[in-house]
Amino acid sequence: MHSVVLLALIAYRFDAPVSRHVVDAMQEETTRILERAGIEFQWWDRNSPIPMPEASQIYVLGFHGHCGPISSADSVHAPLAVTHVVDGEVLPFSDVDCDQIRATARNAFGFPRDLAKREEAFGRALARVAAHELVHSITKSAAHGRRGVARAAFTQDDLTADEFSLAPEDVDRVRDCFR
Ligand SMILES: [Zn+2]
Repeated sequence: MHSVVLLALIAYRFDAPVSRHVVDAMQEETTRILERAGIEFQWWDRNSPIPMPEASQIYVLGFHGHCGPISSADSVHAPLAVTHVVDGEVLPFSDVDCDQIRATARNAFGFPRDLAKREEAFGRALARVAAHELVHSITKSAAHGRRGVARAAFTQDDLTADEFSLAPEDVDRVRDCFR
């Protein structure tokens, strides 16, 4: 049995300058979550020149607000992210709200004291939200799973736990879309 891989070019952009630790952790955790479903990533920061495209699909991710662990934010009960849908069709465009993620995680990113570690933890939280939206875009479906990264709503724990992954049934659902 040969394994089929979807090579996805992620065209991402942060509204404001962001720590390298956040970006690296976001990319690593997104890869970790979705590689089990057969997705490989090529990353393109849209503030830099486009790389030689190798991918068959492009997905656009925008990160808005303050994308770092430092200041606190008030919850306004807005979604953590949204993937755009037009006329019932799920598009490969997602917007992630960093302020809302910090608010949902409350003060969890205040620890540990090491700033780089906090930035990595914040980057992992971004990745979990981004991976959730990418599941919508890759499967072209608004459906949610019952547990794990594809669940409809995330808790503080989901964002900050050491481990948070796609449930096996959702791994299969993603794979079935492109094999
Ligand atoms: Zn969703």
